[in-house]
Amino acid sequence: MTAKFYIVGNWKMNQKLEDINSFFNDLGEFSTERQYEAWLAPQAIHLPTLLEKAKPLKIEVGSQNISDNDSGAHTGETSPSSLLDAGGSFTLVGHSERRAIYKETDEFINRKTLLSLEKGLTVIFCCGETLEEREKGMTESVVGHQIEDGLKDIPENLREKIIVAYEPVWAIGTGKTASPEQAEEVHLFIRTKLTELWDGTLAHKIPLLYGGSVKPANVEGLLIQQNIDGALVGGASLKGADFKALCDAADKRSKIPGQLQG
Ligand code: PEP
Repeated sequence: MTAKFYIVGNWKMNQKLEDINSFFNDLGEFSTERQYEAWLAPQAIHLPTLLEKAKPLKIEVGSQNISDNDSGAHTGETSPSSLLDAGGSFTLVGHSERRAIYKETDEFINRKTLLSLEKGLTVIFCCGETLEEREKGMTESVVGHQIEDGLKDIPENLREKIIVAYEPVWAIGTGKTASPEQAEEVHLFIRTKLTELWDGTLAHKIPLLYGGSVKPANVEGLLIQQNIDGALVGGASLKGADFKALCDAADKRSKIPGQLQG
């Protein structure tokens, strides 16, 4: 358990302007006095709209993807410095849809991670196994390699700006959530891996988020686990009322005494 809980909405390639308006109308009363973090990653084109609407509510805004270059001839890409300049504070890196559809490799993901951290962004580093890999008993070796290769050579002073999101591919957008125990087992493995790679004190400060069909009905059971510090949420983050319900669960969880670290 780290110092704070996180609810991060990944809107993917969804939400038109009118949906965004409805989202904020449906959020209802959204306190800015809170112990947990609420973040949103819209499509890049909606970043300015989101910043205008979310910042007053102290919701951080970030990108779903980022370039491994900071400027120049890279048509269609988003530069880390430009994201920061526009008011964004974080980026997802290595989402399974980027790995599977756009063939992003661990080495490429590592370059994006390093550059984003160097420029000052927080990186939500995503990892997770496919159903086939899980069924073959390869979960730990797959996730372990993704972490070793994707987080290679991160300078010590930048490591605290990393959040790891464990997202089993078979649970993303499928309605199949990993059980809290299944998720906790892999989160504990990730925490141990980070302890081996870096050190225990730091590893206990890195927030570990679970992602994969999280919704208001199952979030509490996940957040109560010792090594689950929040959720990265796709589908259930699109509606303001659902996002609010997820945030309420994080708020409730934040108020349960525990051994908060960091
Ligand atoms: C995601 O895309 O990061 C995700 C977890 O999606 P969903 O919540 O829809 O499974």
